[in-house]
Amino acid sequence: MRLTRYYMPTLREKPAEAEIVSHQLMLRAGMIRKLASGIYSFLPLGYRVVRKVEEIVRQEMNAKGALEVFLPVVQPAELWRETGRWDRFGKELLRFEDRGEREFCLGPTHEEVITDLVRNELRSYRQLPVNLYQIHIKFRDEIRPRFGLMRAREFIMKDAYSFDADEEGLNRSYEDMYDAYSRIFHRCGRKFTAVEADTGAIGGDVSHEFMVWADTGEDVIVGCSQCGYAANLEKAEFRVPKGRGDEKEKSLEKVYTPDMKTVEEVTGFLGVSPSQLVKTLLYNTDKGFIALLIPGDREVNETKVARLLGLEKLELAAFRDVEELTGAPVGFAGPIGLGGVKLVADRLLEGVKNVVVGANEEDYHYVNANWGRDFLPHVVGDIVKALPGDPCPRCGAPLEFSRGIEVGHIFKLGTKYSEAMRAYFLDAQGQERPFVMGCYGIGVTRTAAAAIEQHHDEDGIIWPISIAPYECYLLPTNTNRQDIREASEKVYQGLVEKGVEVLLDDREERAGVKFKDADLIGVPIRLTFGERGIKRGVCELKLRREEKSVEVPLERAVEEVMALRDSLFLEVRP
Ligand SMILES: [Zn+2]
Repeated sequence: MRLTRYYMPTLREKPAEAEIVSHQLMLRAGMIRKLASGIYSFLPLGYRVVRKVEEIVRQEMNAKGALEVFLPVVQPAELWRETGRWDRFGKELLRFEDRGEREFCLGPTHEEVITDLVRNELRSYRQLPVNLYQIHIKFRDEIRPRFGLMRAREFIMKDAYSFDADEEGLNRSYEDMYDAYSRIFHRCGRKFTAVEADTGAIGGDVSHEFMVWADTGEDVIVGCSQCGYAANLEKAEFRVPKGRGDEKEKSLEKVYTPDMKTVEEVTGFLGVSPSQLVKTLLYNTDKGFIALLIPGDREVNETKVARLLGLEKLELAAFRDVEELTGAPVGFAGPIGLGGVKLVADRLLEGVKNVVVGANEEDYHYVNANWGRDFLPHVVGDIVKALPGDPCPRCGAPLEFSRGIEVGHIFKLGTKYSEAMRAYFLDAQGQERPFVMGCYGIGVTRTAAAAIEQHHDEDGIIWPISIAPYECYLLPTNTNRQDIREASEKVYQGLVEKGVEVLLDDREERAGVKFKDADLIGVPIRLTFGERGIKRGVCELKLRREEKSVEVPLERAVEEVMALRDSLFLEVRP
């Protein structure tokens, strides 16, 4: 492709709206443009990258026997009502009516549609397993779209759904997808890790997220370098640290703590460490009000709470509810004498002695409160977030935290959707049984953006060859000179004939502008045709990711590019 015929509006300045590198560079390189908040158009260069990622995904899915389909983005409300998600999904589901006042939504995910597709026609165990996938647009009405493609409202996703006769079959399908995902992200040139994850709104029992390592990532990866345990922060478990001393119980005392509401204020005033205070947090849930008791130096993990208690909804209680329940303003809630709510304590507190708690009275706290003697929770479980250094749940070594970007997510759904939607098959005995399902997603556009977060420098993007918009950039420094023009044209023709994806910068621009654009768009291999070199019959070969360049004779340029290209592809072969 010739740049004189291309549409690639590059920007010199950093766009003010872009907070992270991938967003900035995709705008600057002329890959994407914003249409509305969280909604982007892909320009030729950007769409080539998307198509490359899609093709890798498609090849690996097909290799596992998955079958590609294409499902509608517009979905009828009735299907979502069958699984109860029409009401549960919240505002991320963009709902609307057609002219006949029938309700629809834009699909944020396709479990209902796919289950509906197979439920009356996939009938026998002999037809199983089946894995159907699509690569298509999804829409989620994010409350705060940001970071460009990283948290967009409209995005391209690969979603696959497996149907098996039993758990064993599901396990095999899941393993297949796990393997396919590992190959996909490796081929895309990503450094990634698969972490245990909570199943959240999608549901099911087991799930893994595929995380690309990036300091700018929004997600926290909790890992153990000793045994390889890895989980996201919502899911991460840890062992209860050993070694609590065998203290003697002191007598309960109410103390005056004027205007002291935060953990820091109270513990500072009383001269104790935050871990000696028990925080009491009131939540409003679909099963009534609950009070969570956690150590003062910890944070609630709402995902764990919801799972422990089987809750669908959970939010901090409103100020006036707190006042009504405790008889005191926010900041003085405590478990002693707190009626009408379920007390749920973190297991770290079990048997705790001589701690500080709120007194359910304005400006007062209790000191020397004791588990069992002064308060006794109804439920005890793991409800707090892990912290760096907590003991690994498997081996006890200290957990380490790092940051990542979620690019894929796989779930064992079980029979949640098939039972809700009455999707049955006949087993070998002629009995009706629900399909055992799995679902498997990859954020295609997000994978492209994550690549930039991992591979860039101050001048621009550094694409891995497998998903680069082009493989080779030809840069004649001065197109007014006939010898330069002819040499670059000849190499261009040679590379095109060999099937190399090549961009010829035949614009009448200054060399400086061309070098800047070449670095910005990040094509992996560059050939420069300069005046001095041409006279000696050579051009300059350079990798985007390296500083140094080498001279190659013009007649060998095509061969050298081919060899380099092969070696770059070898690096991303799984
Ligand atoms: Zn471990």
